[in-house]
Amino acid sequence: MKILTILGARPQFIKAGALSREFSKHNQIDEVIVHTGQHFDKNMSDVFFDEMEIPKPKYNLGINSLTHGAMTGRMIEEIEKILFKESPDLLLVYGDTNSTLAGALAAKKMHIPVAHVEAGLRSFNMKMPEEINRILTDRISDYLFCPTEQSFENLKKEGFDNLENKVVNVGDVMNDAVLFYSMKPNERNILKLDNDYILCTIHRQENTDDIKRLTDIISAINELSKSVKVLIPLHPRTKQKIKDLNIKVEADIVEPVGYVQMLNLIKNSRLVLTDSGGIQKEAYILKKYCVTLRNETEWVELINNGVNVLVGADKAKIISAVRDRLNASFNSDVNLYGGGTASKKIIDYLLSDFKCKF
Ligand code: UDP
Repeated sequence: MKILTILGARPQFIKAGALSREFSKHNQIDEVIVHTGQHFDKNMSDVFFDEMEIPKPKYNLGINSLTHGAMTGRMIEEIEKILFKESPDLLLVYGDTNSTLAGALAAKKMHIPVAHVEAGLRSFNMKMPEEINRILTDRISDYLFCPTEQSFENLKKEGFDNLENKVVNVGDVMNDAVLFYSMKPNERNILKLDNDYILCTIHRQENTDDIKRLTDIISAINELSKSVKVLIPLHPRTKQKIKDLNIKVEADIVEPVGYVQMLNLIKNSRLVLTDSGGIQKEAYILKKYCVTLRNETEWVELINNGVNVLVGADKAKIISAVRDRLNASFNSDVNLYGGGTASKKIIDYLLSDFKCKF
């Protein structure tokens, strides 16, 4: 069974770290990886392939730094050429980026079945490019692998029961990745820290591209930094915006780090302050409270369990949510993301379904 996997951005490399490792255990699976180039530099791409031992991409499209339309369009064109050449049995996409949508569209129009890992997530905010990508990808996918009960329910509500596709709640491949890579020795340890810091990441377009939101968030961080260290592995997009706007940041800024280092930074932090989707879950799995710099989240079960709180970009809310949780001991032991068996479930499902066809 030949699977063509489309990867483009950091969170997809991490999910592939879990699933591709499982694929390689099965002789009957031949995985061909296409890297679209959306994230391309050493810190945002190479480090994950090296450290997570993801098979090297057979194709590298080098498509990046374009507007959404231009990027998606060029990706569709290039992926289509590869599909003609490789004729895979299945195209696999992860998450909600332009690479996800481009891959799904190119394959579906060639009648190649599409599997979407991380299906059914919704923020219900149609201003987010990710929300548009995930809704459209779900609608044309044949296999929808949901990470949570809520994402499964979202698809049911949208009428996916009436469509000709397969919707399964398998758990989150990111949970598999956290469990596996948090046990790996941190060979690239570039940061020697005590455990007295808040770990912070900011990269989402709704925060970086809105001057008021970005300045309010930074202003809250500057205030918090007066009493506790705030460590920010800074995303290149945010770095550029801060530079363009000449905003002064009083935190400890470092370059983006590799995944094993990131998991270590979360594990040793006092709490996590982020607008990332993945990091909200990693904080929970590694038993840290998370304060989320967004107005809504796709990972609502974290909010419902009281381990995550949404503060948007409101300076006062950010400061008080962080201060309230700095010394609180983490309290939750429910299993929200499948406990580390998602990759195996996906593979078992695909193998048994495809056996019927050949
Ligand atoms: N991450 C990382 N190094 C960093 C920042 C993030 O390895 O310096 C990882 C993080 O642990 C998570 C993933 O990248 O697994 C999340 O990526 P991002 O926040 O870019 O995207 P999102 O999850 O919001 O889609």
